[in-house]
Amino acid sequence: MALFDLFKKKSAPSAAAAAQPESMQPELTRSAPQPAETASAAPQLADSVPVNEKQGWLARIRESLKKTTQILNTDIRDLFKAQGRLVDDDFLEELRAILIKTDMGPAAAGQIVEQIQTEFRARLVQLDQLLASVKAKLRELLHQTDDALRVNPAGPTIIMVAGVNGSGKTTSIAKLAHLFRSQGKRVVLGAGDTFRAAAVQQLTIWAERLGAKIVTAPQGSDPASVAHRAVDTAVTQNFDVCIIDTAGRLQTQQNLMSELGKIHRVIGKRLEGAPHEVLLVLDGTSGQNAISQARGFTEAVHCSGIVLSKIDGTAKGGVVIPIRQQFGLPVKFVGVGEQADDLIPFSPDTFVEALFAGLAEEALPR
Ligand code: GDP
Ligand code: MG
Repeated sequence: MALFDLFKKKSAPSAAAAAQPESMQPELTRSAPQPAETASAAPQLADSVPVNEKQGWLARIRESLKKTTQILNTDIRDLFKAQGRLVDDDFLEELRAILIKTDMGPAAAGQIVEQIQTEFRARLVQLDQLLASVKAKLRELLHQTDDALRVNPAGPTIIMVAGVNGSGKTTSIAKLAHLFRSQGKRVVLGAGDTFRAAAVQQLTIWAERLGAKIVTAPQGSDPASVAHRAVDTAVTQNFDVCIIDTAGRLQTQQNLMSELGKIHRVIGKRLEGAPHEVLLVLDGTSGQNAISQARGFTEAVHCSGIVLSKIDGTAKGGVVIPIRQQFGLPVKFVGVGEQADDLIPFSPDTFVEALFAGLAEEALPR
């Protein structure tokens, strides 16, 4: 593949993943796995991701981000045609332009440039020094503490999923269901996108494939009543997790937002404290548009975390940075493909490492 030719020298992804230091492991996996029998009482569902699964995460995020990485790394390499570069205004402006191309936004790019200016102003900087400093600043900008999924220790965990049409909601629900099923948990899905018949069918196929129960209603039914029935099923039939799909498009934006609010309220009425998570799915390929999408949703319904889908298809992977900064919401997962296991817990360290994969190993000789 052409994009990969640039990185031929780098070590195989699996080797890189195996060498992953402890500090780069996603937060979610620090604790020991929970036995499946204690699933419903387990205080931290997300902690029970099997240890062997995390081995491949860096490699898979690297693979997914390769479009973003390629542009970023080629440009950064171009900055260093000679050995070292003098950190002057020209250099700083070139660096700013490169960073902005990843869609990280002017604020983050400005903060990174400022950092480089403070550290290296009027001195020669080498590629590896620049990289170390940029990565440290990015890790700081992406820092988050609450990235584990919130769960209900006293009963079913209810997760509501929102986002615009096509952002990847239904697929992300399937991926989450797969994650929970692989931990031996019982999952019920609520097909709350009653706006389109195809949406119900799509979720039904996933439910069958993943061994999850599904609660549906005919097209045009009240989605809040589907959500109510799904939560009711979870409570009365002792399911561990209930995930509720919602529509991404209605006749008007106003309709959509008030419907989401109603679904949220109905869920809370059936089970106090629910939903435990409201995940906003944003399409990683839409770059800065993802930010305006996020704004609309976070104003209408209280969101607790973000799933950034389709980072495998984007050259704008940097968008996670302004999303993280502007909404104060943790990015909980990234979607790296269309299959059930293509969902990876987000870790700033792994993400930053993946973004510059290949370049660090190739730092020019001094
Ligand atoms: P929804 O309308 O928000 O429910 O979106 P869907 O889940 O139906 O997804 C829309 C399209 O995006 C489908 O073709 C999915 O297969 C695709 N998709 C979803 N997530 C990902 C992802 O992480 N990577 C890639 N490459 N495609 C995805
Ligand atoms: Mg859908």
